[in-house]
Amino acid sequence: MFQVDITIIGAGVVGLAIAHQLSRDFPDKSILVLERNSKYGQETSARNSEVIHSGIYYPKNSLKAKLCLEGRISLYELCIKNNISFQKITKIITATKDEAIPKLENLYQIGIENGVPLQIIDKAQANKLEPNIRCAGGILSPETGIISVAELMDFHYQKASNNNVDFYFESHISQINRLSNGYEVNLLEKNSETSFLSKVIVNSAGLYADVIAEIIGFDTAQLGYDLSFCKGTYYSLRPGKKGIVKRLIYPIPPNEGLGVHSVSDIAGTIRFGPDVEYLPEKILDYSINENRKLEFLSAIQDIIPSIQLEDIAADYCGIRPKLQKKGEPFRDFIISEESDKGFPNFINLIGIESPGLTASPAISRMVSEFISQIF
Ligand SMILES: Cc1cc2nc3c(=O)[nH]c(=O)nc-3n(C[C@H](O)[C@H](O)[C@H](O)COP(=O)(O)OP(=O)(O)OC[C@H]3O[C@@H](n4cnc5c(N)ncnc54)[C@H](O)[C@@H]3O)c2cc1C
Repeated sequence: MFQVDITIIGAGVVGLAIAHQLSRDFPDKSILVLERNSKYGQETSARNSEVIHSGIYYPKNSLKAKLCLEGRISLYELCIKNNISFQKITKIITATKDEAIPKLENLYQIGIENGVPLQIIDKAQANKLEPNIRCAGGILSPETGIISVAELMDFHYQKASNNNVDFYFESHISQINRLSNGYEVNLLEKNSETSFLSKVIVNSAGLYADVIAEIIGFDTAQLGYDLSFCKGTYYSLRPGKKGIVKRLIYPIPPNEGLGVHSVSDIAGTIRFGPDVEYLPEKILDYSINENRKLEFLSAIQDIIPSIQLEDIAADYCGIRPKLQKKGEPFRDFIISEESDKGFPNFINLIGIESPGLTASPAISRMVSEFISQIF
């Protein structure tokens, strides 16, 4: 049985950022990344809004607030230094009715307490910036941007590989056993079985992070580690309507998600989404339910009234790994070194939904700090 120092399970944007960070911080340690797909970044990291969030929404002192703020600053620096495509496109959160202004002001207070630069704008100011939106009053977020996640993941993968991180693609974990000197990992690769010993394990398996925790022996139900799959669908705007908005336009958020909003990618394609659809089963169902199109259109028209049914076409969807069950209150990221639960040197990352992309540089530093206590 061969041995490694650190194993990272999952090569999404978070697993890749961690691999890159650890390869710099622990150059003399052997690092292995296990990914069940044939390439990195094929799941949630390839199916999101690609927004660099400023950090407005999350309760003060939560990991989501702290890591989003730190991550956002690091991500802009990283993009500038390494030529990764990004654009500080800015964003407006719009209260579409006068009655919603108190909610807007409340959101503004949360953002300000989190340390996010924000500006309250009135109807006239909003309509000067964005003549086509419905707005009784808004919040302008100058620090919100967009990024090419594909370029970011390519960057981390290349850097980690150059620093001797090994990537095992198409690896399926059949079992993980806790031993006195680390963890025995059994892999199923095509028709053969391989086993190895790892001193440290980082569970960054996205939608399946709870399953990995369960395999090793965590009582996920009791710990509140169970994930729900929550689909978010996007519709794209036909190119002829491209100039309708210049910034990202968001509504006041409902209980789950940030509300159907307009997003733009680096190439300039405008999309609307993602809506919130809790899936009854935990399966990777990326099909688009066109029966929801009218409901979707109504959410778009609430913020940009002139959009018509023929202007939008079903595009793609992503699935959020949600700790928060339908109707339940806010849940934070779980990022935890699990010695106190009897699993020393095992680091769980569970529920890394939005703003996980933005937070990824800060998450990778947090994991590195845990590991510096071990070696
Ligand atoms: C609709 C939507 C919109 C979003 N928009 C934004 C946004 O605008 N801004 C933002 O900051 N965040 C956003 N997010 C959140 C962001 O996309 C995620 O937080 C981020 O991509 C999570 O990365 P990850 O590496 O943890 O997970 P993933 O990308 O899911 O990667 C996990 C990896 O683990 C692998 N894996 C799973 N099980 C196993 C196993 N048993 N063995 C080996 N490998 C395994 C998977 O194949 C996968 O490659 C959005 C998410 C969604 C769903």
